[in-house]
Amino acid sequence: MPREYTYGPFQSRRLGLSLGIDILTKKKTCTYDCVYCEIGSTLLLVPPTYEIKNPPTSHYRNEIKEMMRLFPNLDSITFGYNGEPTLNPYLGDYYRITSEERKDVKWNEKKPYISLFTNSSTVYLEEIRDRIKVFDYVLAKLDVGNDKDFIKTNRPHEKVPSINIIIESLIKLRSLMSHKKFDIQCLIYNSYRKDFNSNNNEKNIINLGNAIKKIKPDAVQIYSIARIPSEYFVYAIREQQKKSIVKTLKEIVNNEAIEINYY
Ligand code: SF4
Repeated sequence: MPREYTYGPFQSRRLGLSLGIDILTKKKTCTYDCVYCEIGSTLLLVPPTYEIKNPPTSHYRNEIKEMMRLFPNLDSITFGYNGEPTLNPYLGDYYRITSEERKDVKWNEKKPYISLFTNSSTVYLEEIRDRIKVFDYVLAKLDVGNDKDFIKTNRPHEKVPSINIIIESLIKLRSLMSHKKFDIQCLIYNSYRKDFNSNNNEKNIINLGNAIKKIKPDAVQIYSIARIPSEYFVYAIREQQKKSIVKTLKEIVNNEAIEINYY
């Protein structure tokens, strides 16, 4: 059967054996155009209310069923490696079908999570929070804690709300998901352009720490660029820098219930 929706599985440091699910269009459409994006520049920069109307076809059920039977050792079935999946208003239908099919499989060990990556730009919309909250595991992006760094790093569409509104929305989403897994992912990078300060600056790390303290996720994942970034002048931070960011964040967050790790 030709594969339209799934790719992999592949081994992910954070998710284990993960089957990727693509419910977007082939043309990269996103509410952000991150300087470090590893899937290239955003071809269509859209507002958070934009809808990619791709409902699941019958092929989706058949394909996911077949992939689950082929890989009964999956750890995660993951939406959103290639853009912002919450732009698809049928995300809830994809979740439902995936969850129904997951019940019928004899899994090797425990059943895989149904996971979602989101860039957090749409989470201020109540209907999007309602669609997201059913997932077993949500990994929400937050690379910055102030608007200056937000605009430089994530280059959001002008209709994306301010970072404070996004942080408040993540607090609301977290409260809806208290029995699920909820992590924050922060991609921190360096820049060698003197006129372009990266998000690896002291003010941003402090602002991020204060935001994480309020959001109270289960865990925070600090990571950096691992493939070719969208802009030539950005590059990965070193392991030592990741360690030092983790230390600073732990001091600010001061909450042992929140795991803070680097990858
Ligand atoms: S949010 Fe994700 S897909 Fe969109 S530009 Fe940023 S890194 Fe790329």
